[in-house]
Amino acid sequence: MRGSPLERLRERLAEVHDLTKAATLLLWDQRVMMPPGGAEARAEALGTVSRLAQERFIDDEVGRLLEELRGLEESSDYDSFEASLVRTTRREYEKATRVPPELVGEVRRASALGLSAWGPAKESSDFEQLRPHLEQQLELRHRYVSCFPPADETYDVLLDDYEPLMKTAEVRQVFDDLKQDLVPLIEEIGDAGAVDDSFLHGEFDPAVQRELGLEIVRAFGYSPDEWRLDPTGHPFMTTPGAGDIRLTSNFRPHDLSSLFATMHEFGHGVYEWGVDRSLARTPLHSGVSLAVHESQSRTWENLVGRSRAFWRWFYPRLQRGFEAQLGTVDEEAFFRAVTKVQPSLIRIDADEVTYNLHIILRFELEQDLIDGRLEVSDLPQAWNERMESYLGVEVPDDARGVLQDMHWSGGAVGYFPTYALGNVISVQIWERAIEELGDLDDRFERGEFGDLREWLREHLYVLGAKFTPQETIERVTGSRIDAKPYLRYLREKLAPQVA
Ligand code: ZN
Repeated sequence: MRGSPLERLRERLAEVHDLTKAATLLLWDQRVMMPPGGAEARAEALGTVSRLAQERFIDDEVGRLLEELRGLEESSDYDSFEASLVRTTRREYEKATRVPPELVGEVRRASALGLSAWGPAKESSDFEQLRPHLEQQLELRHRYVSCFPPADETYDVLLDDYEPLMKTAEVRQVFDDLKQDLVPLIEEIGDAGAVDDSFLHGEFDPAVQRELGLEIVRAFGYSPDEWRLDPTGHPFMTTPGAGDIRLTSNFRPHDLSSLFATMHEFGHGVYEWGVDRSLARTPLHSGVSLAVHESQSRTWENLVGRSRAFWRWFYPRLQRGFEAQLGTVDEEAFFRAVTKVQPSLIRIDADEVTYNLHIILRFELEQDLIDGRLEVSDLPQAWNERMESYLGVEVPDDARGVLQDMHWSGGAVGYFPTYALGNVISVQIWERAIEELGDLDDRFERGEFGDLREWLREHLYVLGAKFTPQETIERVTGSRIDAKPYLRYLREKLAPQVA
């Protein structure tokens, strides 16, 4: 046998990594470039490449190497590359080898079928079309859970796939804190009267939007050597490898939401971009979890991109780009419009405050479904009741209610909480950055974002996935996940609307 066990493990993991990244590129191409006719062939290709990656990873040889490396892991510093690689890989390997390949295949097929049923069901606002798929997804989730040792709560096992080692009870605590403060805050803001945002709806040339979006992210740290920005329907970020960051945005012709989507995806991109390059082609070369990832997209979208200082810099430029639409709208009016709080039906269009309640509602319904307290057939009604009680809005049809998101159709249960956890974590990290860097407003007003980006890179991005999400958060912020800083931030920022 060639090489040390560590070298052999690295070689094997590099192959798995390359195959996974090939799948990433196939997916990027599918969503950005591919003509619709390629769908069937692409599904086959994706299936093959993903299966090969999975087979290479769960191979007995990986298990043997991990055993051989126990001594090295124990004798190496916890923070070292060697110890981190073996520790992280062992955890993933133990999880992956518990699930029989037949079940993996069945889950993948059901996911593809569920997702393709979702579009038409939503289109015709017909929950019945989707119901059997959701029932099957739940059944498969239960079979998946049964592959693992019993947890405190069934939901723990599902959550772990998106937010490793996070417990449902901990999420519940954070969300209870959020709910307790946000429901009355929304009522207060609602009573304070409407903010005019009519000028955000009109004709906005998509080509100009893209140009402006690029100008913003260039100031943030985008460079054409290592980044791309392309149009797509549902914005996302992906990276086929180190030094290759792909952002996408939806340049809708009737509003300016693409600017915020572009900043959001930049936040995901810059996290991946900043991971230590010495971790390349290992499982450590990636953001650590969905919630921590979302904390960075929310940082660049909301903490930077929805700040007064940011618009003091960029608003004159935006006005020049859309003279006819915004020439007579002053900066303060624009700022209030893009930070307006108003309960609404659709999660992805929700403001900074109400967004969290859309997530809490989904988190609670997911647990009710998985614990058998709620039947799938009763889901639309339960959804509508909770929308009324948390947000005070009446759901007119299932398309704008329970059918609006695709996650459950594809079997993703336990994913939603990471969005709101990301909001919470974003402000915890932000407060640490401000403590060390001082107030950033002057720098933002001059269009300077490098100090913030570099602080985040040095303290967070560079770590990649060497530690658990909780360890990562504690290393950066000095504390565990906590809703208080985020609630304080929302109150301070949106107080003018209440006053
Ligand atoms: Zn995101």
